[in-house]
Amino acid sequence: MKSFLTCPGINKFVRPTPEYLTCPKCLGHIEIWSNEQEAKCDKCGAIVSREIQSCLDYCEFAEKCKKIIEEKKVRK
Ligand SMILES: [Zn+2]
Repeated sequence: MKSFLTCPGINKFVRPTPEYLTCPKCLGHIEIWSNEQEAKCDKCGAIVSREIQSCLDYCEFAEKCKKIIEEKKVRK
């Protein structure tokens, strides 16, 4: 049995956390790691980058969403 947590080289693979984006084409969930800039949708193959994905840039409810996001960060 290998010990993952004791290997120093594995740190950068352990630290990133998976996040989920919504695909703009098929509305499916795309898994993107916290250290990745873009990810590929498994369903339709669309490449989704974080910049394009951010609805906070254009949504009229962005201010409310930002408050919710901040509140969730605090709760963590
Ligand atoms: Zn898709």
